[in-house]
Amino acid sequence: MADGTSLSVAVIGGGIGGLTAALALRQAGLDVRVFEQAPALGEIGAGIQISPNATRILHRLGLAEALAVRGVRPIAVHQRRWDDGRTLLRVALGAEVEAAFGAPYYHFHRADLLAALGAGFPADRVHLGHRLVDLDERHDRVEARFDNGVTIDSAVLIGADGIHSRVRERMTGPERPRFTGCIAYRGLVPAQRLAHLDLEVVASNWMGPGQHFVHYWVGGGRRLMNCVGILERDSWTRESWTDRGEVSDALAAYAGWHPRVRELIGALEETFIWALFDRDPLPSWTEGRVALLGDACHAMLPFMAQGAAQAIEDGATLAACLGRVDAKDDVAAALRRYEAARKPRATRLQEMSRANKMRFHLPDGPTQEARDAVMASGGDRSIDAIRWLYGHDAFQAD
Ligand SMILES: Cc1cc2nc3c(=O)[nH]c(=O)nc-3n(C[C@H](O)[C@H](O)[C@H](O)COP(=O)(O)OP(=O)(O)OC[C@H]3O[C@@H](n4cnc5c(N)ncnc54)[C@H](O)[C@@H]3O)c2cc1C
Repeated sequence: MADGTSLSVAVIGGGIGGLTAALALRQAGLDVRVFEQAPALGEIGAGIQISPNATRILHRLGLAEALAVRGVRPIAVHQRRWDDGRTLLRVALGAEVEAAFGAPYYHFHRADLLAALGAGFPADRVHLGHRLVDLDERHDRVEARFDNGVTIDSAVLIGADGIHSRVRERMTGPERPRFTGCIAYRGLVPAQRLAHLDLEVVASNWMGPGQHFVHYWVGGGRRLMNCVGILERDSWTRESWTDRGEVSDALAAYAGWHPRVRELIGALEETFIWALFDRDPLPSWTEGRVALLGDACHAMLPFMAQGAAQAIEDGATLAACLGRVDAKDDVAAALRRYEAARKPRATRLQEMSRANKMRFHLPDGPTQEARDAVMASGGDRSIDAIRWLYGHDAFQAD
């Protein structure tokens, strides 16, 4: 700021979005602390795909080497038909994409990605075991109260606290996230169990009526195959939104599918089952000195593989906006600029993710044949068609 002091920022939530924002804000010269409810930084779930629009940001935050050690670089995305395995679309994701967009496409084990982010940020500025329970904006400070009795204040508070965000609830009132009608089986297979299949380093997506199946390598050195089976279901009646599942149930759900899919499911040691929730776009992401980012404000179905990538972009744009604040009174205006820059793009991806549920799960018939014909022509995945997504520079978005 103009008077030489750094603007203080409290980031609530130490997930992919919160940690990226913390790194970007710190790089922009702000005085940042992270408050995470869990006793340790960690991620549930297994694999995650991170596209060049997000890796570009992580590289600029100094993480290129850490990502290269931990990530897997797929050479292509391969979309296939559910029963006979016929290729519907195959597009390059490796050197071509990196050359076109100046950053690689990666697959990570989530724990590896979070470890890379966490290692880049000072540990003494991450306050674990702090669950935000309430907050109030008073004059030019935001006071945050935690379940362990600690109260802090800061000039800015960022709610990066995920789909069940307490910060969002304080801003817009209680509202349950929406069950999307999809559940996901997730699990990992050790590479040695699959050695006889000589599987390529690609992101595979098998599409069929009412469900699809995704798999890709994760873990430095391709140690594990990450498998995700997504099925349509009318309701989710369990209390928790994630629970232990049975491999035999997953196999039964993929009866009649290509032997490769069934072999992968059968090789799972264990599986977890998730209910997939999203939210409608929020009317606003900011209120005074408080702003939301990541799943807290734009939770989306994973069918564009962009939820975390958009959270990462949020952090970069937030830093670009807050890094230029030169007077106390500019904070709310800077947060509004952040929202204006980010919301249309994140909303578009929320909508595209929902639309892909229909597109990936078409029953066999004329509409599916029309979809396959579009895909056979290269469809929407050419370098030019994807430039708006992968070529975006969120640091410049302000
Ligand atoms: C099956 C599946 C596959 C996916 N695949 C991809 C993919 O390939 N690519 C991609 O980009 N995205 C993918 N996503 C989406 C991605 O996982 C999320 O968008 C992303 O993890 C959101 O990050 P976040 O930091 O906003 O929230 P979260 O990861 O939910 O982190 C929120 C953090 O806040 C903490 N917290 C919550 N409440 C409080 C509180 N009151 N006080 C303090 N701390 C709190 C939590 O403990 C957590 O650490 C997928 C999602 C699913 C379900």
